[in-house]
Amino acid sequence: MTQATTAYQKPIPLKDLDNAPYWDAADQHQLALQKCDDCQAYSQPPGPTCAKCGSANVRFEQLGDDITATVYSYVVSYRPFLPGFQDELPTIIALGQLDQVPEVKIMGNILKCEEKDLQIGMPIRMTWVDITEDRALPQWIPATN
Ligand SMILES: [Zn+2]
Repeated sequence: MTQATTAYQKPIPLKDLDNAPYWDAADQHQLALQKCDDCQAYSQPPGPTCAKCGSANVRFEQLGDDITATVYSYVVSYRPFLPGFQDELPTIIALGQLDQVPEVKIMGNILKCEEKDLQIGMPIRMTWVDITEDRALPQWIPATN
């Protein structure tokens, strides 16, 4: 008997004590950022303490699902470095600088975008791709889509 293989092949980010609120929000198609109650700095990716002042007095701020940004930097990958990416080449990997919180940049792929249309500073919008029944990945799409 043959079985169709439709399982998600790419790595699934692991939730840990520090990043679980970030990924829990992502699973609900929302963005949550870790913020320090002492110095007000954001830490992205989240960690056990504030990346700026080392305080353990950190919490998560909910930013909702309407997340826009501009392309701060990007690379275009023509090789699949991990299993599962071979059918989606080239892959555009970008740092999006958030409009709401410009000091935060979030890495993700830009989907639905041709390489020739890529530009530093172009407006992008966060989207969430459901990868399993209960997990979702934040990614980017051009804001005009
Ligand atoms: Zn701090």
